[in-house]
Amino acid sequence: MTLLIKHPPTYENERLYAFHVILKEFLGLDYRSVAEERQDVLITMNDAEGRELLVSDVLFQTPTDKWLRDDSLPVQPLETFDLSQVPVDIACVSPIIPVIYGSRLDNGDYIDVQDSKVKLGLDIFGSAFFMLTRYEEIVKSVKDEHERFPARASLAYREGFLMRPIVNEYLEILWWSIKKLWPGLERKKRSYRVCLSHDVDWPLSVAGNNPLRVLKTAAGDVLKRKDVQLSMRRLMSLAKVCTGNVDADISNTFDFIMDASERKGLRSAFYFIADHTAGRIDGIYRLEDPWIRKLMKKICGRGHEIGLHASYNSFRSADQVKKEFEKLISVAEKEGICQDVWGGRQHYLRWEAPTTWRAWEEAGLDYDSTLTFADHVGFRCGVCFEYPVYDVLQRKPLALRERPLIVMEGSMLGCQYMGLSHEKSLSLIQKLAETCKMFNGDFTLLWHNSSLLSKKDRELYGKVLMGG
Ligand SMILES: [Zn+2]
Repeated sequence: MTLLIKHPPTYENERLYAFHVILKEFLGLDYRSVAEERQDVLITMNDAEGRELLVSDVLFQTPTDKWLRDDSLPVQPLETFDLSQVPVDIACVSPIIPVIYGSRLDNGDYIDVQDSKVKLGLDIFGSAFFMLTRYEEIVKSVKDEHERFPARASLAYREGFLMRPIVNEYLEILWWSIKKLWPGLERKKRSYRVCLSHDVDWPLSVAGNNPLRVLKTAAGDVLKRKDVQLSMRRLMSLAKVCTGNVDADISNTFDFIMDASERKGLRSAFYFIADHTAGRIDGIYRLEDPWIRKLMKKICGRGHEIGLHASYNSFRSADQVKKEFEKLISVAEKEGICQDVWGGRQHYLRWEAPTTWRAWEEAGLDYDSTLTFADHVGFRCGVCFEYPVYDVLQRKPLALRERPLIVMEGSMLGCQYMGLSHEKSLSLIQKLAETCKMFNGDFTLLWHNSSLLSKKDRELYGKVLMGG
């Protein structure tokens, strides 16, 4: 059962990547593709029935002088169509579907279902390519104070679909159409996964730190955070650490994290900083520290994962990422740690398309899990599946996978970004986890070990895991 895809001859590399991810990687279908002079994408099968699926083709019709320029971005406000008005049974977050790229069909709508033919006015392959490769981040030059592309500049945020995995929704529309025409086809089976990760910025915040700083933070616990209990715990921790008991450091929440994961049958990934490129921003510990090495060994001994938390100024430097990864591997080897898969995340979520992916591939890492926005939780890549990435500038797929991050706790809590209460954060996290569950996707959550110091934070984390 092999599908035959006939497509226009333009942007061959980009199309092949989009077909591969959507059809093979996500749906697990076999297909063959050929280029021919035409205006849309025709999907058929070598059978006598003559059934046809026609998919609109817009992004890959962009004149080459407009590629990666403003003119090639989707026209806003986006058009939408209403799936509830069509006799289809497709699971989506909302029946109102935003059209990133597409063109209205002759019937005035974006979907036309006939007996042996389905027409989709939605440019599924182009729109998915746009989201998965972070195309717009190369075109738009907006940056925040850490040189990051902010949520507010993204199409998803501006068009109100950042909280929806739009590519998954498009995929369901495509799959429904394929299944309608060829009921004998089966898609790849997937099951919902919770991927927990923990960036280790401050494994210890009392040991090795200036006691005056700790006292100042303890004062802040009372005055700013209005948490007397936290302040007391911090001071007790300081007293114990001063007598040589480093394990009593308030930020040493690793056992708490591993216990919680193990109770749920989950595996946590802990990403370590291996070099310092920006002073204190990269924390103050070193991989060589005996306490850190003991921690790494313990994490692996309990069946959890370690990975790279690439330093603040590494995101544009393949050499720096390579240096840091090599250092991590060498320390791991000395501790007898071996893993089949190595991944991690950029510190501060500093990431640039496609430079950082390229650097990670060159360094030999298997996956990255940086991609959510620091200032807003949600689906930056529009998808809750892990996927192989593409270098839009060098026009080639990379041997690196992206495991899109959906929630970083710091985006919601505190006053820096969304500024949500613990209650609101919990309901938002649960909603996002439910959404990932709906598509049998991966709910990828980042929770720093240093964000579990107060009772309130630990309770919230416990509830998140219970619900996830
Ligand atoms: Zn970090």
